[in-house]
Amino acid sequence: MTESIEYPPLFLKPGEDARLRAGHLWVFANEVDVKRTPLTDFQPGDTCVLVDAKGKGIGLAYVNPASLICARMVSRGLNHDWDRSLLVHRIKVALGLRERLFDTPHYRLFFGESDGVPGLTLDRFGDVIVAQATTAGIERMKDEVADAVQKVLKPAAMIWKNDAGIRELEGLPSYSELALGEIDGPVSVMESGVEFRVDVREGQKTGWFYDQRANRDLLAPLFRGKRVLDMFSYLGGWGLRGAAAGASDVVCVDASADAVAAVDANAVLNGLSDRVSAVRADAFDFLRQLREQREHFDIVILDPPAFVKRKKNLREGRDAYRRLNELGMQVCGKDGLLATFSCSYHMPRAMLLDGIQRGARHLDRQVQVLSQLQQSPDHPVHPAIPETDYLKGFLCRVLPA
Ligand code: SAH
Repeated sequence: MTESIEYPPLFLKPGEDARLRAGHLWVFANEVDVKRTPLTDFQPGDTCVLVDAKGKGIGLAYVNPASLICARMVSRGLNHDWDRSLLVHRIKVALGLRERLFDTPHYRLFFGESDGVPGLTLDRFGDVIVAQATTAGIERMKDEVADAVQKVLKPAAMIWKNDAGIRELEGLPSYSELALGEIDGPVSVMESGVEFRVDVREGQKTGWFYDQRANRDLLAPLFRGKRVLDMFSYLGGWGLRGAAAGASDVVCVDASADAVAAVDANAVLNGLSDRVSAVRADAFDFLRQLREQREHFDIVILDPPAFVKRKKNLREGRDAYRRLNELGMQVCGKDGLLATFSCSYHMPRAMLLDGIQRGARHLDRQVQVLSQLQQSPDHPVHPAIPETDYLKGFLCRVLPA
């Protein structure tokens, strides 16, 4: 670290440095030696030097005394300041991966902890960047982030979509605002030749779910000639990719009227509207209705929003996944395939599979797991931080018992 930089220390209790040394980036409030360094001495977003009980510096972190995760490490060791040039470096390293993975500039450019900056997400839609800050530490660095993005990518525009529910845990308000340039009208995402128009200002989350792209690529060869049900379709990522891959008939279902209208518009845009229909409905109601009408599909996609938003909701979430999967299996036709997901980071993979298996037995069906699915590689997993391994999925074949 250069001479000029001096940050206050945050002392950890004896032994509480072990998890950080093993690779994690978070400090929980109960791990801090508050007698030596009271958390109340810090403002949300302040930078500190994390120091072990013996007085050795571990790295730089930003602090939020109001959050259970009271500090997140942004730099291991003490050689780099937490500033624009570190952000530039991290964004360049992140960009290197995405440029190797994709042939068009549509991807998650930066995935928080996994790319070395906790709390920062950047999604790239060509020359438009959608940014999310989920912590006070990133909120404080918004200008530096925008400068760093400008330096690395010179985008036409960047917008902060700071409306994620998780911000409440950091005491942050919900808003969105332009950081660079202007955005007029929707932007385009290309996925394997299919174009999606996305409204990044009004859309859900950052506007597009890049995390499913690798799974859509993987399953594309299975769609030819098949009847497909895309539940929780949002803009039709799964359904339209399925139709483009040769599905005979696709039904997309979402509770959002905007999403359903966008599926129709995107189907027209890609010349697929003769084989794609979009329905606005509650997924559970719609599946029950299909079951009563004895409608069946060759491939059923279940890609719901997170049912477990907080750890304390794990049991009800687990039950909701189980009910959903049971309904999904009931509308699977003979030798049907079920591609089913959970994006709840609190929900263990094994628990999702257990729910599928229990659901199958309840219906007197047999399930074969053909693939275990996870988030696309532009959402890399940090091996020390299980929360970054959030998207769990299974491709299952559903058979009679
Ligand atoms: N499958 C999408 C992403 C789905 S995000 C993709 O690949 O891009 C979850 C979607 O579920 C959102 O569009 C949301 O509007 C929808 N949704 C949430 N609750 C719902 C419900 N009860 N019934 C139907 N859709 C629901």
